[in-house]
Amino acid sequence: MGNIYRILRLGTQIKSRRLKLLGLWLFHVLGRRYIGVFLDPVMACNFRCKMCYFSDEEKRKTLKGSLRYEEIEAIAASLFHRALKLQVGCGAEPTLHKDLIKIIGLGKKYKVPYISLTTNGNLLTKEQLSAAVENGLDELTLSAHGFTRETYEYLMANGKFDLFKRLLADVADVKKKYPRFKLRINYTINNANLEELSCIWDIVGSQLDILQLRPIQKIGDSEYNDFDLTRIYASYDTVLQPLIEECRRRNIICLAPDKRNIIMLEENEVDDNSFEKATYCYVSPRECWKDDFDYRTETFESYAARRHLGRQLLGKAFGKAKRQKVDVTRKMNYNIK
Ligand code: SF4
Repeated sequence: MGNIYRILRLGTQIKSRRLKLLGLWLFHVLGRRYIGVFLDPVMACNFRCKMCYFSDEEKRKTLKGSLRYEEIEAIAASLFHRALKLQVGCGAEPTLHKDLIKIIGLGKKYKVPYISLTTNGNLLTKEQLSAAVENGLDELTLSAHGFTRETYEYLMANGKFDLFKRLLADVADVKKKYPRFKLRINYTINNANLEELSCIWDIVGSQLDILQLRPIQKIGDSEYNDFDLTRIYASYDTVLQPLIEECRRRNIICLAPDKRNIIMLEENEVDDNSFEKATYCYVSPRECWKDDFDYRTETFESYAARRHLGRQLLGKAFGKAKRQKVDVTRKMNYNIK
């Protein structure tokens, strides 16, 4: 299996929406893998990041629940054989789940080609990391909202910069034994941490394989509420572009929006997202893939047959693309640089 980023790059290179949807339809009818499973095994977080809904007390009260391992086993049995990627950790902190390593092992059991873990990393020990990689983990994605102690601990409330740096050292050690294991950093850019991007090489050093640069987006109520992207847009050529070029020089995959896309985001307009919707499978204690899908009694295939997913995909491929306006922007068009 090639790297998932090669597939993503191919996806961004194919400009025709119809062609992409037809490709998906083909994968669908041939029984091939094409969905990305984004799994939050537990709806809790040890951090209270200021840009995240976990910083909002009211919202936090609604975020609860944990999937039992047996439930995740059943979900894996019904969906994982069609997954191209399994991402453990999406909108909460997966290291708070006691069976994290076994969950990663389920991805391997069902031969999911790319398994990643998205975490703030403060609770992850070196032993757990080694065990996770041994159990099939391909990539560790660390969220970072600053590269100095001051900014990191201010924006990532409850987080400890020293633990972040310790984990980076652990990653370096684990990579010696597993050189194919990858480190990804997801950096959410705002007006308070834009300049710190230049410190990335001092902090993360040569361990970095993938960097995602994500201008701040409103994903719900949060303590930090400066969503003005004007300065980020204005600094694109002096801050972001040189970083993108340095990544290229160092052979690091950089996922970043185009300059134009930052402004389009501000207008809160997103393109037709039929492709993303067809491949996106979110699982948490509160939901699993589709509202009317029951993983206890159904499989991907029985649901697809019942709801005529193949026919729906074909209809979308030949139907008119829809543009839409949204209040909350969750998805951004990242280009793989
Ligand atoms: S670590 Fe992630 S889930 Fe937790 S508060 Fe921060 S952004 Fe939110």
